[in-house]
Amino acid sequence: MPKLAQVAVNDATIHFDKLYSYRIPDALEGRVWSGSMVLVPFGRGNKPRMAVVLEITEAESLDPKLKSLLDAAPEEARLTPDLLEIVRFLKDRSFCTWYEAVKAVIPYGAQYRPGQKDGKPVLQSRLTRTSERVYTLVGTLPEKPKPGPRQQAAVQALQDGPLTQRELEAQGIARPTLDTLCQKGVLAVSEQDKMVDLFDRIPFDPRPLDLSPEQQTAYEALLPDLDDANPHAALLYGVTGSGKTAVFLKLIQRTLELGRKALVLVPEISLTPQMIRRLKAMFGSRLAVQHSALNNTERLLQWRMIQRGNADIVVGTRSAVFAPLRDIGLIIMDEEQEHTYQSESAPRFSAHDVAKKRAVMENALLVFASATPRTETYHAAQSGRMKLLTLRQRYGGRPLPTVDFIDMRAELTAGNPREVSVRMARELAQNLERGEQSILLLNRRGYRTVGMCTSCGFVLKCPNCSVPMVYHKPQRALLCHHCGHTASPPTVCPQCGGKIAYSGFGTQRVEEELQTLLPGARILRMDQDSTTQKNSHERMLAQFAAGEYDILLGTQMVAKGLDFEKVTLVGVLGIDSLLFGQGFRAYETVFSLVTQVIGRGGRAELPGRALIQTVVPEHPVLRLAAAQDYEAFYREEITFRRYGLYPPFCGFCVAGFVGAQEGAVLQAAQRFGAILAQLAAAHPQMPLRLLGPAPMNILMLNGKYRYKLTIKCRNDAAFRVLLRQALAGYDQEKWPSRASVVLDFNSDGDM
Ligand code: ADP
Ligand code: ZN
Repeated sequence: MPKLAQVAVNDATIHFDKLYSYRIPDALEGRVWSGSMVLVPFGRGNKPRMAVVLEITEAESLDPKLKSLLDAAPEEARLTPDLLEIVRFLKDRSFCTWYEAVKAVIPYGAQYRPGQKDGKPVLQSRLTRTSERVYTLVGTLPEKPKPGPRQQAAVQALQDGPLTQRELEAQGIARPTLDTLCQKGVLAVSEQDKMVDLFDRIPFDPRPLDLSPEQQTAYEALLPDLDDANPHAALLYGVTGSGKTAVFLKLIQRTLELGRKALVLVPEISLTPQMIRRLKAMFGSRLAVQHSALNNTERLLQWRMIQRGNADIVVGTRSAVFAPLRDIGLIIMDEEQEHTYQSESAPRFSAHDVAKKRAVMENALLVFASATPRTETYHAAQSGRMKLLTLRQRYGGRPLPTVDFIDMRAELTAGNPREVSVRMARELAQNLERGEQSILLLNRRGYRTVGMCTSCGFVLKCPNCSVPMVYHKPQRALLCHHCGHTASPPTVCPQCGGKIAYSGFGTQRVEEELQTLLPGARILRMDQDSTTQKNSHERMLAQFAAGEYDILLGTQMVAKGLDFEKVTLVGVLGIDSLLFGQGFRAYETVFSLVTQVIGRGGRAELPGRALIQTVVPEHPVLRLAAAQDYEAFYREEITFRRYGLYPPFCGFCVAGFVGAQEGAVLQAAQRFGAILAQLAAAHPQMPLRLLGPAPMNILMLNGKYRYKLTIKCRNDAAFRVLLRQALAGYDQEKWPSRASVVLDFNSDGDM
């Protein structure tokens, strides 16, 4: 019977994302499977478009009008059945299109695009093949004619095994010599993928790891879940410095002994080098990495290494949850509370959910780890839906840092124009004298954060986004942190001609203050602006660890997970604005950030102390963070969530509406709300609350207006069906200028 490929195409909209049938032409017979990337003629003009095959079906007879596939990518680019299942999962849960899910799951370099060959549309690889020549010794060097010294050197070099052309050239052996030896049948040459050992400088140094009694208890409690063939989830909750990593390492060791593989997720690129170092030292080189700081070639090669079964451990950030690793026994999600695990563009998924799905598919053990777990995660553990393991003490019985508040109201009254308080400066100076290191957190980059007219109050805002522009000193320019718009900073108000005053402190400004206050100090500023170069995170952190700097000043990227022995002072600056942030997770975010950064201090021999600058030193969230009392914080937070009806007590979905005309966007949001309410009326038993429409916190972004509806629901299959019906209904409305709809199930109330 003739076969048909059912495909989903690229650039579909949510509403038109259906499957289209294509004939498989004879030329592609045996080269198309479900999961294949293909090129199809699409639409009236039959323009070539990328597509993915989701199913192969059989038909009694073929409709003669049916179009044929144009080309198919090689089998290595095919989505494995596992990944195809993940694609289905993403599509179902996050309301993205099929192809958006496909693009999330495979890295850019492994993707294909439409191209031309001999005037015909074909698929082209995104990356040209990244292979190199490898030489192997296959014969003996003939005595006559007497071989030259170069030929002898080449044979000598290859005695211990094959080498690449580049490695041979490094020994002074050039291509012509190698070609001659191949002609003589002494050497054989083959092409292989370039192997990039990204961490060949890290020594393999396996040392036995002895767990503390508390760590051992946690490890032993998890062992049965690792050993049996069922999926399990657990939360490893341990105070900062308790040695959660030591527990992972042991679990990974056991996983490998069982002949299975481990996936380790970290929230930020800045944390990968430290994790890689620990893993590489303990387990050697069968380790692959997936994160966004790799270039496309590196990323592809690492991905292929995993795909071909040459990696036992994969480490990476959010997208590593899609690594084509097979037979996964263990998935670790370190610092699971971090918002970076949630994707903020389509597909809007949470790595938590994908990790859970994979753990179920693979019968793996999934371990969430944190000193400040998400309220939802801790609640799940408390209510018995996952195992809870607790580490109450720091490793080696080290004390948690002592914490003090600096009341910035007093500083302001005393007339200190700086962000760095007098006391903070004094303590930093003390650390400097003692040769100890300090970390300062200020979660705002740039120099001055607001420019405002002193006469009329006009604020310098981005023309495309309703946010103030931030002054950046190196460029001497105003920058929009949302769309990247730049402008030169005016000195007079464009509105009334009054004087513009710049205020608010960013990391650049504080760096300058520190240089004035502590002339001898070596200051390392780490923020998005100072880490644009490849490997800059790794280099900076290594320099700080090596004692080349006294003070590490940075945004949230310095707050978490890092482990430096000589840090004894942690300072928190400018935290108050976060306390008054919107969104139901605002307190959780501040509690976590402050607890985490305080936890960077006093992790080794020397005891640590922390200072928090604030105008609300009595604020309960700050008090609890200072006491590092997560459980007390959780009790407050879960009560708030229960009475305010927020997750985990309901599903929480934000529907965003975006468009060029504000009136139309608002109308679209109202209309969608009305359609949804009408549909819901037919299901009175379905719990549903609809709030809004309301403007988003940032009304205009990239020149587009944004409104939202907040939907509190039970996020189950029935609700998702309803939501799909609402989308379909909304789509049938014929308006001159419609707004696009985006759904987000991981939002804290805004987009
Ligand atoms: P956490 O992630 O829980 O904040 P880490 O895993 O970074 O803590 O551990 C804190 C410090 O204690 C690290 O320097 C780590 O090397 C050390 N440490 C923890 N457990 C052990 C152990 N069992 N043996 C040796 N050192 C340990
Ligand atoms: Zn902007």
